[in-house]
Amino acid sequence: MNIAKVIVDVPASSINQTFDYQIPERFQEMLKPGMRVMVPFGPRKIMGYVVGRTNESSFDQLKEIIDVFDLTPILTTELLDLGKWLAEETLSLYITTFQAMLPQVLKANYKKELERLTSASLSDQLEAFFDRRDVVPYEEVENSGVSFYQIQKAIQDGDIAVHYLVKSRVTKKHVTFLKPARDIHLLEEALRDMPNRARKQQEMLTFFIDHPQEIELNKLIKEFGTTRSTVNALLKKELITSFRKEVFRNPYDDSVFEQTTSLELTEQQREAIEPIKQHIQENRHDVFLIHGVTGSGKTEIYLQAIQDVIDKGKEAIVLVPEISLTPQMVKRFKGRFGSNVAVLHSALSYGEKYDEWRRIHRKEVQVVVGARSAVFAPFENLGIIIIDEEHENSYKQEDQPRYHARDVAIHRGEYHRCPVILGSATPTLESYARAQKGVYKLATLTKRTNEKAMPEVNIVDMRDELHAGNRSMFSRNLKENMEQRIRRGEQIVLLLNRRGYSTFVMCRECGYVKECPHCDIALTFHKHQNQLKCHYCSYEESMPMYCPSCSSDLIRFFGTGTQRIEEALTQLIPEARVLRMDVDTTRRKGAHEKLLNQFANKEADILLGTQMIAKGLDFENVTLVGVLTADSMLHLPDFRSSEKTFQLLTQVSGRAGRHDLPGEVIVQTYTPEHYSIELASRYNYLRFYQQEMQTRKKFQYPPYVFLTLITVSHQNHVTAVQTTQQIVKNLWKHVQSDTVILGPTPSPIPRMKDRFRYQCMIKYKHESDLQRLIQKMIHQFDDEVRKNDLQITVDMQPYQLM
Ligand code: ADP
Ligand code: ZN
Ligand code: ZN
Repeated sequence: MNIAKVIVDVPASSINQTFDYQIPERFQEMLKPGMRVMVPFGPRKIMGYVVGRTNESSFDQLKEIIDVFDLTPILTTELLDLGKWLAEETLSLYITTFQAMLPQVLKANYKKELERLTSASLSDQLEAFFDRRDVVPYEEVENSGVSFYQIQKAIQDGDIAVHYLVKSRVTKKHVTFLKPARDIHLLEEALRDMPNRARKQQEMLTFFIDHPQEIELNKLIKEFGTTRSTVNALLKKELITSFRKEVFRNPYDDSVFEQTTSLELTEQQREAIEPIKQHIQENRHDVFLIHGVTGSGKTEIYLQAIQDVIDKGKEAIVLVPEISLTPQMVKRFKGRFGSNVAVLHSALSYGEKYDEWRRIHRKEVQVVVGARSAVFAPFENLGIIIIDEEHENSYKQEDQPRYHARDVAIHRGEYHRCPVILGSATPTLESYARAQKGVYKLATLTKRTNEKAMPEVNIVDMRDELHAGNRSMFSRNLKENMEQRIRRGEQIVLLLNRRGYSTFVMCRECGYVKECPHCDIALTFHKHQNQLKCHYCSYEESMPMYCPSCSSDLIRFFGTGTQRIEEALTQLIPEARVLRMDVDTTRRKGAHEKLLNQFANKEADILLGTQMIAKGLDFENVTLVGVLTADSMLHLPDFRSSEKTFQLLTQVSGRAGRHDLPGEVIVQTYTPEHYSIELASRYNYLRFYQQEMQTRKKFQYPPYVFLTLITVSHQNHVTAVQTTQQIVKNLWKHVQSDTVILGPTPSPIPRMKDRFRYQCMIKYKHESDLQRLIQKMIHQFDDEVRKNDLQITVDMQPYQLM
């Protein structure tokens, strides 16, 4: 087996295959699949992943592997197979799926250098360029005034050479430690011989005699209240020695988490957990959907199921949405399992993430809590995978590889024969429909553990406000209630639903929204042409002057930003202290947490923000939640807009009255009669599910069909359209008779960075090998892609239709 099959780090579809390399004698013993290697590729040296070893190759002149980066495989055989499966499933490149599974620092770092080989004098310019150095980074050529011709010539003459360097970016943190350099009795002897004026040295030496184990230098200086010079004096006398040691960065101080133990479960919790525990015991795979209202004790179920897994000596993955990886959530897992938990999320530095990953890789922890990519945690003995808030869109990656964490979790669950748990107060229609059909096992928790009722939701009809002469963003009801809470020293959360800003057209007089007659989707306003367009089927019409329903001229596009709301709010209630939380105010690392702490410390009366405030927050003193514009998401050009509205309203309502004080929710809307608003206000998920399923059936959307979105972009408008047309035409010839292909249609953002974007949508029920068919279609354009900067992207499970 002296040949390695390698996936090389060149993200191009023409290179998307394994390449064979000879394994030199010195690596024969140690080289295993899942390790990273350095290989020659054309004129360059690049990184690659070994995916297998073999004896035979169809090529005879094989190049040799230059170097091996890892001593142990960083991808297990399971993950290598998973990466292959995922690449084929999502039409991605193998290299991108492997890289998606690993921390950023394990990616290669490429550098080019020029080396001077001889002392023979070079041209004046080159002499100046090297400036007595032997090696110079290649980037310096650009501003040096040295021409490429000169460099080429010098290379030909053998005076200089170009090197391609490839490095693993891994940064390990090393710190200095100290320990006694001699036996204790020798130290005691030295202490006796020390002159009395060397008091500080005496004290420190006494310390080492009493504590002969190694100690971190910085810790010694801090705790001992000493100085570097005292340490140096002892080092110089060779009484102690110093050495560098690698340490793991732990982003969390595990000692601060108060230990918790399993709670006595409620009747409903027990019924839900019983079959899960059984599956854990019997090593059986199944998918469980836990549909439980906010506060019904889902997290406690996760914790107790994980305890069983740990007791069996196995491992657990818990996925939570990035945004709810708040200190509160981390505290619950660390509180129960202490340092047996690794946490992976984007606020960690690259180094911290790498260290948490290595704690998993070295089997130093049994539990990982993390955002989407934690689903690839390199455990080999998985006993459970949990996806909390399974309806969250952030579980879908919107870059290559365009995967959904739920699919990966289920694939791994099958492999490890372990249960996969999906939890939500508002499951996706896809998951709930599968539970109804018995594909998933359903558990329902209807009661909060504290037996408290959900807060009352009051809907305010904003059309009435307008008729009463109130043109502001705040209804009279909301204003009065806010003033009352501020007087009582209670707090308020205000949600501005900013997504879908200015895209749809609505009549402020009667709430009428212009929709596509063929798709049941709000039309999108295109300002330049003053046209309304459907992003699904390309239907269009001109922007009306008057409302087709009530003839009012108050029909216009809709939306306002958080900053403007904040200004309006401080004008309306001058005494209110407002904290604004949106993408602008939370861009800096730690800003999110700081704002939340300020609010928790009651430094503000009102927390005003976008979607990000709806999740996982738990403040005792919040008794009022206001939703300013419940409609804005309802009319996104997205068949999931009703579902998203229902989810958001349910979630944000859960923020009020979690504790002793009763809570209230005020929802402002122009369409109070819409079923997603009305049913969310009554917490009636089941009715919503039934009604929404009817719509999905009528217009043939998931879960009744599957969708695939193909997007083509090019600088030239005609090329973009024609390529899309060609793909659509070819596809029609090969798909099943009940499959529908919509398009070509301009993408919702029809031009981006000077590129024109067109798309087509495939709606299908049964296509056994659609991936391969699409692959074949787009392979025809490989040349255009390579030479002419054409881009074709395929999303097998599109969520972002905007
Ligand atoms: P969810 O995840 O469904 O929102 P949690 O698990 O966070 O619900 O539970 C809500 C609250 O109820 C938490 O404070 C939790 O500690 C508490 N809790 C959960 N289960 C029980 C139980 N069986 N007995 C008492 N309190 C519980
Ligand atoms: Zn109208
Ligand atoms: Zn349409």
